[in-house]
Parts: sequence; structure tokens; C-alpha cells
Amino acid sequence: MQSNWQHDARNTLKGANSCNDFFQSNQFEDQNFPIKIPLEFANLIDKNNPDDPLLKQVIPSESVLSQPGFSYSPLADEGNAPVEGLIHKYPNRVLLITSRVCAIHCQYCFRQNFDYSGHDAMSNWLAIEDYIRSHQSVNEVILSGGDPLSLSDEKLEKLIKNIENIKHVKLLRIHSRSIVVTPSRITDKLVKILAKTALKVVLVTHVNHENELSEVFVKNIGNFVNVTLLNQSVLLAGVNDDLDALERLSLKLFDAGILPYYLHMLDKVKGAEHFLVSDERAIQLHQDMKSSLSGYLVPKLVRDENLKSKTWI
Ligand code: SF4
Repeated sequence: MQSNWQHDARNTLKGANSCNDFFQSNQFEDQNFPIKIPLEFANLIDKNNPDDPLLKQVIPSESVLSQPGFSYSPLADEGNAPVEGLIHKYPNRVLLITSRVCAIHCQYCFRQNFDYSGHDAMSNWLAIEDYIRSHQSVNEVILSGGDPLSLSDEKLEKLIKNIENIKHVKLLRIHSRSIVVTPSRITDKLVKILAKTALKVVLVTHVNHENELSEVFVKNIGNFVNVTLLNQSVLLAGVNDDLDALERLSLKLFDAGILPYYLHMLDKVKGAEHFLVSDERAIQLHQDMKSSLSGYLVPKLVRDENLKSKTWI
């Protein structure tokens, strides 16, 4: 399982011209959020299908659909950062912005306009440590980004050791889409780091469609030990907003040892209007999933609010 994941992560399509060349299409136009597609992900896309569900996630769209409620920063995360690099919205957990880098740019991303300047948990660790130590109610630290697994194994190991040293923190949650789109990121060293930490580790993969579950990903994700594997998806029009697609995703995740956990409503970021699924449709799809799948295969349908809450819908 030794691999040069940093090489794979750099091996990406960037910009409309290289994407149009690769896909032999004219669908790509440079917009506000730069195009970035790792080759491992691009190779899973059917070049002959303009409606390919993976392709749709990475094609930028001009914000031509005027929809109420869409903004540049739908969750206004910056307002919940008492210390730079740390977001504190819920009493028991804090989220660290560990990196501004992602292996892929998802065009529905709610953080695509996030002002990362100053928000670097790695360089602001001492202030962050003080903050967590002074909040005894915090028992979980969530590593987010960008993507926390864009950090090197060495940096991650150091950060995890620092978190371990805070006695009232027991849980470590890592959210990552990079390991899905560049599965070579699951290195032996990463597996060892997560296996040996004293913290209980929850790894939340971000998979939206069954076609993202490549053979390499399924093989590599099976190497983790002492790690609870959960998945969160975003409900995206034209990608996974039908019962068949959602059922197959849940079943394939379970086959890979991952429990479907969250199905997120779209965060209303400008440029992502075309991905919106109405509440009525989402609730109907969720009801249909409950009828056709065992309960443990039905993710919770949720929406993040611009408040200190997550709403079950
Ligand atoms: S990987 Fe996550 S943070 Fe990065 S662009 Fe995609 S949705 Fe946004």
C-alpha cells in the first residue's frame, strides 16, 4: 500500500482548457471557483456521457439561476470562530480548519468563498490548545479544511498527539473527500497513526455517488483498524436525487464497511443553484429510502443552519 499520494494529488486537471481537452468537450468554462479534478477521479467519469454524475460535480456553472437564499457564505462560519482556525458551534465539539487545500474542487462546496486568511489551526495551535483546555465541555475535535488529509502524515501525527494531550478530549473526527478522490492517500503510515492513537477515531468519508467508490478506494479503506467509518453525502440535483442512486450508494458503502450517516441538504452557496433539491422532494426520497432499505442503511437527512444547530428534516 506504499504509494506516492502527493504525486497523485498533484496529478490534476486544472482550468477549463485542460478539462475540455481531456473530456473532449466544451462544457467547461472558468468561473469563480477554480476547476481542480484529480486524474484518479477524472478517470472514473464516462467521457461519452455529458450527464455523468461525477462530471456534474466538477463543472462550474455561471450563477444564472436567481434563487432566493443563496449567498457567498451560507453558513457564515467565520462568525463562529472565537480563535482563528477553530469553529465552535456546538457545546461538546470544536472544528479545526487544518488546511485550505482539497484534492478536488466540488462546485457545490459551501466553503468555496471561505476567507481562509488567518484560519490555520496548524500555525495557531497554541491559542487553539488554550481555548480547548478552557472549555471542559469539549470532548470531540473535528479535523476539517479544506481537507485535513491534504496534510502530510507527519503533520497529522503531531497534531493528533497534541490533541491527545488534552485530557477531556476523547473523540477525534476526521472529514475527508480527498481519500475518496485520491485513495492512494490511505498510506500505511496514516493507517498506523489512526490505529495507535488513544482517541476514539471516526473517519467521515464524503461520497455522493456509487461511481466514486473505485476498486482502489474500497480496497484501501478496508485497511483501517480501530476506526469507525461513516459517510456523508450532499443531496445534489442531477447527481444523486433519485431513489435508485441513493439505494445503490448506501448498499455499496455498506459493502465497503462504511455506514451511511448523513444526507445533507445543499448549503445555499452562489454558483450551486442548479444543484438544489426542494425540501418536498428530499423528504419524499428519504421516506422512500426508509421503505426500501433497512434502517441502518438510511442516512439522516439534515441541513446545517446559519445558527448553532443542525436540523433533522
Ligand atoms: S473536498 Fe470538501 S471542502 Fe474541498 S471543495 Fe470539495 S466539498 Fe469543498
